Amino acid sequence: MQINELPDYLANKIAAGEVVERPASVVKELVENSVDANSSWIKIEIKEAGLQEIKVTDDGNGIPHDQCKKAFLRHATSKINNENDLFHVRTLGFRGEALASIAAVSRLEIKTSTGDEAGTRMLLEGGHIKEEGRSDARQGTEITVQDIFFNTPARLKYLKTVHTELGHITDIINRMAFSHADIRFELTHNGKRIFQTTGKGDLRQIAASVYGMSVAKQMIPVHTETLDYEITGYIAKPEVNRASRNYITTIVNGRFIKSIGLAKSITNGFHTFLPIGRQPVVVLNISMDPYLIDVNVHPTKLEVRFSKEKELFQAVEKMIKDALHQQTLIPAGQKKSTPKEKSDQPQFDFDRHQPSASAPMQEPFQEKSDQDSLDDIGMVREAEHISTSMTMENNEHNSSNNLEEVVESNSQEQQQVVNKEVTRVPVMYPIGQHHGTYILAQNEEGLYIIDQHAAQERIKYEYFRDKIGEVDGHVQDLLVPLTFEFTQQEALYIEQYKEELQKVGLFLEAFGQNAYIVRSHPHWFPKGEEAEIIRDMVDQLIQEKQLNLHKLREEAAILMSCKRSIKANHYLNTGDMQRLLDDLRKCEEPFTCPHGRPIIIQFTKYEMEKMFKRIM
Ligand code: ADP
Ligand code: MG
Repeated sequence: MQINELPDYLANKIAAGEVVERPASVVKELVENSVDANSSWIKIEIKEAGLQEIKVTDDGNGIPHDQCKKAFLRHATSKINNENDLFHVRTLGFRGEALASIAAVSRLEIKTSTGDEAGTRMLLEGGHIKEEGRSDARQGTEITVQDIFFNTPARLKYLKTVHTELGHITDIINRMAFSHADIRFELTHNGKRIFQTTGKGDLRQIAASVYGMSVAKQMIPVHTETLDYEITGYIAKPEVNRASRNYITTIVNGRFIKSIGLAKSITNGFHTFLPIGRQPVVVLNISMDPYLIDVNVHPTKLEVRFSKEKELFQAVEKMIKDALHQQTLIPAGQKKSTPKEKSDQPQFDFDRHQPSASAPMQEPFQEKSDQDSLDDIGMVREAEHISTSMTMENNEHNSSNNLEEVVESNSQEQQQVVNKEVTRVPVMYPIGQHHGTYILAQNEEGLYIIDQHAAQERIKYEYFRDKIGEVDGHVQDLLVPLTFEFTQQEALYIEQYKEELQKVGLFLEAFGQNAYIVRSHPHWFPKGEEAEIIRDMVDQLIQEKQLNLHKLREEAAILMSCKRSIKANHYLNTGDMQRLLDDLRKCEEPFTCPHGRPIIIQFTKYEMEKMFKRIM
């Protein structure tokens, strides 16, 4: 037997299997390097979803002539000096493998200069240097990667369609743009510009580029600080919601991260504001001491853990609740569809652009290519427009040509939201009832349509939520004991958490195979709903491995409010309607029912006049 050391080109080719999974990974590594090199502008030009060519150009530090060859050695990095550095890296990539790995599976050309001297140009094929010389002295780096996987055809086979790959690439660039708002990004595909940011540091402008103008217009600024964390960002009003959690973007110290706990605290903040099963659109930027974060050292893993997570999660949840609480959340009755508004959907519809591999990718760019809003500066112009018009409280005719002014007024707006006493639900006078289901009402501002069932659910929910109050150990005997049959798995959980259940006053007595009997129940259980609440408790134990009484009480309140509310097709006289509207105004959160459905929609006077062409 003979043990051989692998030649470098082979070792690199093997390493490439890890680092370079698909064109998007090449894009990610190259762009991360550009970010690390302090670039203020990064251009990414893609051909055929990167399978043909990926070119990344930046205006960063550049690589000195005598260092350039070294950059292509495996484990060559300027970012780590010793082991300790590994845990406190602030830069993005740090394994020193990317360039070597990418070069190993492609034809790569690099032109780079520090700006002080003539630059360097190198051409590599499958990791071997083919040409070497000098380039011009423009400061920055341009790397062109062609024919990726030409020498590893098996890898090519794994790649999905062009659209899937392009989806991954745009996803990467969107994240990079969100995490580096002060860098100007440009992304083109087959020569067409498909994404662009201004680099002005404004998250909402980036949200406009990523999600479209109509979403960005509906976003409100949020901000909070704790001893250890500072959190800023934007949350979309609940009427803008999505089926997946992919629209929750969390950035920690300039790095796109994922944290299940953090995402959960965000959705908790939206509790009862969003329809069940729907997810919010949120961008949060968190600054903190890097020592408080445990980033998995594997560079492709995004999941992180925080050391003081409770503090962070509570702050996030409260921040969102408070922000929503200060808003008037009445959606407009009329969906806008004028041609001008259509161009409010710039770029591509992010909805069809799920990053998750399981969601089938659809054609993301085809239809937008014929939209005229994609002219070169259209994007930037629109981004200016939204920020301004938002600051000007829906004054859609306002526009500014001064980006600084926009960013400036944005921070003022943040202040305003905090200071302003918002009139939430206006006084409304009932006109009548429609189909026994909706109350029509009016005031000087316009016409309102109120879902009477949803309104009453909200009123009752807040009533019961308060009445159910604090949980104590008091129990109430049942006249007729309740019996339950559970599955084997459920029964196991009940046994495991028996003590927890007893602590809150629920005694489940075993009664044969997986069956239980309940003779009394906690005092706060809503009458007539005992069996349902007990089921809910067991479900919660199974799903969350703990008993969250606060949440159970919430659920009990929702259940009660729904059961006891007036249904549709129920006649109300003017007095009933007036009372309902008055009660609604007193609610803490009067805009959505406990299941997150809207309660009121509005046609403003202006919209009505527009619809009837009284004004143009
Ligand atoms: P790593 O980023 O982990 O250090 P890479 O293989 O990605 O490893 O890059 C190797 C080195 O090449 C980097 O440490 C950096 O010094 C240099 N480099 C790569 N890309 C650029 C760039 N766009 N601008 C300036 N320097 C770069
Ligand atoms: Mg790198």
